[in-house]
Amino acid sequence: MSTPRGASLLHEPRLNKSTAFNKDEREAFGLLGLLPEGIDDLETQLRRAMAQLDAKTTDLERYIYLSQLQDTDETLFYRVLVSDPARFLPLVYTPTVGEACLRFGHIMRRSRGLYLSVERRGRVREVLRNWPERDVRFIVVTSGERILGLGDLGANGMGIPIGKLSLYTAVGGVPPEYTLPVLVDSGTNNETLLADPLYLGLRRPRAPREELDAFVEEFVTAVQAEFPKCCIQFEDWAGPDAVRLLARYRDRVCCFNDDIQGTAAVALAGVLAALRITGGRLADQRFLFFGAGSAATGIAGLLSEALRREGLRDEDARSRIFLVDRRGLITRDRETIAEYQRPFAQARPAVTDLVTAIEELRPTALIGLSTVGGAFDRRVVGAMARVNERPMIFPFSNPTSHSECSAEDAYAWTDGRAVFASGSPYPPVRHGGRTLVPGQGNNVYIFPAIGMAVYATGARRVSDEMFVAAARGVAEEVTQSDLDVGLIFPPTSSIAGTELHAAVRVAEVVFDQGLAAVPRPPDLAAYVAAQAYVPRYRSLV
Ligand code: NAD
Repeated sequence: MSTPRGASLLHEPRLNKSTAFNKDEREAFGLLGLLPEGIDDLETQLRRAMAQLDAKTTDLERYIYLSQLQDTDETLFYRVLVSDPARFLPLVYTPTVGEACLRFGHIMRRSRGLYLSVERRGRVREVLRNWPERDVRFIVVTSGERILGLGDLGANGMGIPIGKLSLYTAVGGVPPEYTLPVLVDSGTNNETLLADPLYLGLRRPRAPREELDAFVEEFVTAVQAEFPKCCIQFEDWAGPDAVRLLARYRDRVCCFNDDIQGTAAVALAGVLAALRITGGRLADQRFLFFGAGSAATGIAGLLSEALRREGLRDEDARSRIFLVDRRGLITRDRETIAEYQRPFAQARPAVTDLVTAIEELRPTALIGLSTVGGAFDRRVVGAMARVNERPMIFPFSNPTSHSECSAEDAYAWTDGRAVFASGSPYPPVRHGGRTLVPGQGNNVYIFPAIGMAVYATGARRVSDEMFVAAARGVAEEVTQSDLDVGLIFPPTSSIAGTELHAAVRVAEVVFDQGLAAVPRPPDLAAYVAAQAYVPRYRSLV
């Protein structure tokens, strides 16, 4: 494609440099007079963008500002993000993206990504061809039915693929031209949205499962045909859909589900780092999950894979993993057990009370994925502290109001002995004259690293072993000084380095498993690093 000229060039976010076009470029591309005479460099533009951001009074306004920047000058957008990831990740992704999704139809400026309506059945390939890039390597696709902890947000869910893919680039290093956000619009059952005149999606109840599955089949097949090197990341689908679609496609195409596998890997990373504090071996741990949905069973599956790699037999690994839901411990004699829970159903009497379960099962780690805020009360946390010198307490439910317990309570109720990490962020806590820093088990440690490894190696599949490797890579990046303050995840200020390290670990597995499309380079770390996107302007003349 030839470079556009004049105003068209200024409206092409991937090529636009705005005030940073130099004299020669202005002459060559018909830009004279279309820009002020002053010529900036990227750093000066960064300073201006920061000042404009500082003048905004809410995070949603900052989100809107950054979205507009992404739509006008992509390089500057990513330069802003990489300048301070700890500040900008929460603005382009959680928690601000949740608010942005709730108000998506109201804050809309310019459309981004592809909307695939189930009513276009039979025409998916045609729609994919409307995307201007021909070499797409990553699609993040959502049905918008389970957006973060916010439920069914219909077409408003598009904010999630957009945000996730920005992180693939900003912290993972995947060049943005290879990424495509997709929303499968199958209607919504959210009455508030259906009644909102500014809602932008299909105004109909959600399609039944058979219709959705047939459409996804057409979508996956069309992606293979149009973008044969593409990896599909399923994101924020309703739990049963997420589990079913992953099972259907994981061995057939290059794909993964971040809510299941990414969450699992980040939890495993937390456990591996926590063991450096507790001093235990992975093979000796016992895990009690409170909540037995897609996230919990995803973590349970990856933990059992990691335990097997420590030499445990399959059934021994599973006998150390306990799932508790609304009705108590999931046991084999329960009348109804979902297929994905069955591997972890225990051959023992039912227990309905969480404290009794802790006393009987003596878990070393308690992991909350129940969405029940405050479920780990003083009795529960106290029971963990009675059966462990250093109990691992991981309330992973989001948002903060759903968190099973706060960092402050976990430390207070264990006299500072808890090794704590949560799904939602908590500020540092003063306890017994020390400052303890709670970690956040954010999937952002994992999926950009998987993405970068898949991109760099041309991986044909995404395997569980790759997620175990990502988890190990992240845990290795936790320093002794992090552990000294109780922190079991690396700080987000240095996240790009963490992702690169994890991506190299994942890439090793891609080669070991024979899944790579390129020959193994002699220096894998240098090879991966050399392919990472760096936001800087390229000369056009
Ligand atoms: P889900 O709806 O599939 O599962 C929820 C589970 O909790 C179900 O098994 C349900 O039976 C159980 N549950 C509900 N009420 C309960 C009660 N009173 N007592 C015991 N069990 C109860 O949801 P999911 O996708 O598995 O996500 C669960 C939570 O995990 C959400 O809050 C989500 O935000 C969070 N999550 C966090 C991360 C992360 O921090 N990295 C990643 C994924 C999910």
